Amino acid sequence: MSQPRTRVSQQCQEKNELPCLPLTPTKSEWLKSIIRDVPDFPKPGIIFKDLTTLLKNAEALRFVVDALAERYGNLRPDYVAAIEARGFILGPAIAHQLNAGFVPLRKPGKLPYKVQKEAYELEYGTDAIEVHVDAVEPGARVVLVDDLLATGGTALAAYRLLKKLDADVVGVGFVVELAFLEGRKKLPTDTDVFALLSYK
Ligand code: AMP
Repeated sequence: MSQPRTRVSQQCQEKNELPCLPLTPTKSEWLKSIIRDVPDFPKPGIIFKDLTTLLKNAEALRFVVDALAERYGNLRPDYVAAIEARGFILGPAIAHQLNAGFVPLRKPGKLPYKVQKEAYELEYGTDAIEVHVDAVEPGARVVLVDDLLATGGTALAAYRLLKKLDADVVGVGFVVELAFLEGRKKLPTDTDVFALLSYK
């Protein structure tokens, strides 16, 4: 059996907390305290989880990347795929940790080569994401990451898109899950769905 490709997490090691996971209540509270809630963005009634306040905190950024990489190291992914735009912030860092390639899933019209496309429903109207047809080889092991799981529509579309390329989607990971929206129920049961932080 080949070894997991996770690098040793300096952050966890220094604090004598290797592995990062399972997340302790203290760590969970610490990370949640750094995420900023912005009420009524982008529209009234939505409480937007602003992760920029976490990303600018070097210790928190390292911890989050290390923890997600730790979770997926054992799955030995060939690629980490992430969804434009906020998924692009953490996806490449996790791919780097896992010695995996990075695959961008982009908004329509952005990718220059031949694409596969998947449309999905929004509250009002539809949206779509695209991937290059040769982004992953059939059977490649792919971990999908995004910043946040809300209703699950975006992640499900991304999963389906990767399946169109015959990828083996071995995990789907998020920093934050808004559990009260039950997006997880939309996601397939044949893959490892994980969120570092959950809001009930
Ligand atoms: P959904 O398709 O409903 O699961 O929405 C997921 C996408 O929308 C993610 O890429 C998030 O970046 C974004 N999103 C949805 N709701 C929120 C929220 N309350 N705070 C921050 N981002 C959100």
